[in-house]
Amino acid sequence: MGDKWKLSRSRMVATQLAVRGIHDQRLLAAMRHIPRHQFVPREVQHLAYTDQPLPIGENQTISQPYIVALMTQMLHLKGDEHVLEIGTGSGYQTAILCQLAARVYTLEYYPRLAGRAARVLDQLGVENVEIHVGDGSQGLPDMAPYDAILVTAAAPALPGPLRSQLDPNGGRLVIPVGSQQDQYLERVIRWDNTWKIEQTERVRFVPLVGRFGFQLPSNVCSSDQNDQSAEV
Ligand code: SAH
Repeated sequence: MGDKWKLSRSRMVATQLAVRGIHDQRLLAAMRHIPRHQFVPREVQHLAYTDQPLPIGENQTISQPYIVALMTQMLHLKGDEHVLEIGTGSGYQTAILCQLAARVYTLEYYPRLAGRAARVLDQLGVENVEIHVGDGSQGLPDMAPYDAILVTAAAPALPGPLRSQLDPNGGRLVIPVGSQQDQYLERVIRWDNTWKIEQTERVRFVPLVGRFGFQLPSNVCSSDQNDQSAEV
């Protein structure tokens, strides 16, 4: 059974990542190692290593493996970084980041998703992670600055708090920015008070909600809830 999944993972890396320009060897090793099937609901487990996003509940999705790899590669992680992730979702991207950086702080808006991700990460023995529930569009000022910030939901514009929580000495931020229908992946690099922005691939993500996200009719988040983030 274990071997079956391992083989699927090697195939995923060879056919979906290596051929599409993912060359960071530490990242490829992490993608070969982390059991993606444990992060998805049982009904779609057989699709865990296919080339697509999958539903994870609360109308949210786990990103396609290639997109997880692409965004991670854009952060240029070497191993000693403190990383902030916005949008824990299933916790899969979190697990990859934990393999490649020193410490990961991750924020999820929906408590149920955060709880489930926390359980899976715990079962896998991931220790260098802190999971918070709250509005990640405002970042996590207490632990700032961050060497790298990754946003895994689409924003209408670059949220100001995330910009300012980036390390002024070459901090990197990767975020999909655009409309709710489609976005471009942007990489922001901060040097002192200059933020250099590069636009890369066209992508499609679920919307970032909260104060600096899209104002959805179903977005019932009050500003009181936004101001606090609770650790799970
Ligand atoms: N990285 C995830 C992908 C999750 S999809 C994975 O590997 O599974 C995007 C996630 O962002 C969803 O879980 C959604 O609930 C979350 N999200 C949206 N707006 C948010 C906000 N303002 N703060 C924190 N999380 C948010």
